[in-house]
Amino acid sequence: MRSILPAARPEPAPRAPLALVARSVQEMVDDLKSVRRQYLEALPVAGAVLDYVDGAVSIDCCNAAYAALETGGDMFGLYPENPPAPLLDRCGFIDRIAEFMASDDAMRELEWSDGGPVVGRHYVIRLARVPAIDSGEPRCLLTLLDKTAELQAEKSLRLEMFNDSLTGLPNRAGFSEALEQAGAAGDNHFAVLIVDLMRFSRINESIGSLAGDELLITVARRLMSALRTGDVIARTGGDEFGLLIRLVDGPGDALHIAQRINAIFAQPCRLSDLEIRIEPAIGCALSEPDCDGEALVRRAQFAIKRAKISGKVEVYQPVAFNQARRRFSLETALRRAIEGDRLRLAFQPLIDLSSGRIAGYEALARWTDGDRGEVSPSDFIPVAEESGLIVPLGRWALDTAARTLASWDKAVGEPLPIHVAVNISAIQIARDDVAGAVSAALADHGLAGKRLMLELTESAIIADPDRATRVMESLKALNTPLAMDDFGTGYSNLAYLQRLPIDMLKIDRSFITGMLADKDKVAIVRAILSLAHALGISTTAEGIESIQLAQTLSALGCTRGQGYYYGVGMPADEALAYWRSRDA
Ligand code: C2E
Ligand code: MG
Ligand code: MG
Repeated sequence: MRSILPAARPEPAPRAPLALVARSVQEMVDDLKSVRRQYLEALPVAGAVLDYVDGAVSIDCCNAAYAALETGGDMFGLYPENPPAPLLDRCGFIDRIAEFMASDDAMRELEWSDGGPVVGRHYVIRLARVPAIDSGEPRCLLTLLDKTAELQAEKSLRLEMFNDSLTGLPNRAGFSEALEQAGAAGDNHFAVLIVDLMRFSRINESIGSLAGDELLITVARRLMSALRTGDVIARTGGDEFGLLIRLVDGPGDALHIAQRINAIFAQPCRLSDLEIRIEPAIGCALSEPDCDGEALVRRAQFAIKRAKISGKVEVYQPVAFNQARRRFSLETALRRAIEGDRLRLAFQPLIDLSSGRIAGYEALARWTDGDRGEVSPSDFIPVAEESGLIVPLGRWALDTAARTLASWDKAVGEPLPIHVAVNISAIQIARDDVAGAVSAALADHGLAGKRLMLELTESAIIADPDRATRVMESLKALNTPLAMDDFGTGYSNLAYLQRLPIDMLKIDRSFITGMLADKDKVAIVRAILSLAHALGISTTAEGIESIQLAQTLSALGCTRGQGYYYGVGMPADEALAYWRSRDA
């Protein structure tokens, strides 16, 4: 702009007759006007040059685009019949234009919408100072940028981004925005309810996805009817709705609405000739000063897990959440430890009570974490089971146990007369091909089947008796002995002891510890021993910590013993040295 218009006031004209001077000034003004017009016409947008004379804004000249805008729609009233002319203030900006022209600012931007938010047009009005040369009065360039298309595109994009197309409700992102707004308004008196439709995927499968969509719309409508003005409802997931509830009379408001929702769904939903009962699981989290919207949603979702079990509306409890978070971080660390091959096996001796010789070792997983130190298997095995990590962990344990046993054989120069017992979890039985993994471990390390004993718990059988039976039979086909671990603590269903190919009963430590001073425990141990004897099954007593216990159990006819009295779980080389020192 400045490059086109002369940058400075021209040199004063040399002395000349007054008429001549007046004409040449007029010519110069005309020249400048023509330059301004040319400049304006070159602009790709509607533009006008405004003058500011005696505190009033008027138009000096404008381009055709500006004129078309004005004459076409008479929108601004800024177009003068015979410029210069005073501006009409139809857009309500004259004061601000005047204020700008009286100021020293080089530029200013104003936004203006003409004709309402939906059908109207939206402009950015830009004011830029133009050097005042001819009149000496302040002058500015006004341009109008039509942003209507841009804003409409943005609006429809936002609509798509923040709304669910099926129900028309805000979606997850829209809900987050509503929560953010509530938080930003400093409103700490609200609650988030998450409503999950139980078994919805099953319903969807059986009625078809079109009917499923219709059902979701019905559900959305019903949920809306439970809300008050000011509450927000969103579809936050496929079969999950999020509700932002303002707490006018305290937390009771949220529970009251949750109850209303339950009551609303007591009536089945009708879809043509189908009657479908919707069971909502409702989790609730109350806003707290340091808790943002996303955290509230997570808390309410966490509460839902309990709601699904209890069948009641559950309010988030921080203790349970922290436990779950700890568990999750333990799971992440365990996954990394498995991937990084940082678990170890410890080998605890299994002693033949009549001869005192080592019958074998039980392989026990050990994990030392960088941050947590030594983590007990009673802590990480349940996490591994819950997360499915027990499958790779179990395969690793089988392979490592077989590799260690083969290395001992190699070190001694012949197969040792001992076996290694490996624990197999119920989850492995359910999810993995345990027989295939055992067979591979034996083959990879050139071991006979009898060298690996497998310890299963009663839960593995109870969960899926048919599958457990098939797995145990395949294992028997590999000639691997099977032990029932922790016997007496679970269901102790004696029927399967007779039916299944079990070689060894391991009597749980809880019966052995303190047994000498407890007649009931002695009676239980005696009963288990005689039952096992009758069925031709060997026995191992877990948790022998004293010679007296070892002697008593031997006298009662127990086959084997395991416990700190004989040795704790030790690294592979120590276990081999222990065997050499006792039995070689
Ligand atoms: P478990 O299979 O019953 O293993 C015996 C547990 O008793 C071991 O605990 C062992 O250290 C402990 N123990 C042995 N003798 C004594 C004693 O005299 N006194 C006392 N107080 N304790 C004794 P650990 O190593 O903590 O293992 C706990 C459980 O974790 C195991 O119980 C087993 O169920 C599971 N586990 C360990 N490693 C594995 C594995 O590789 N795979 C699977 N699935 N489970 C494993
Ligand atoms: Mg065991
Ligand atoms: Mg045990």
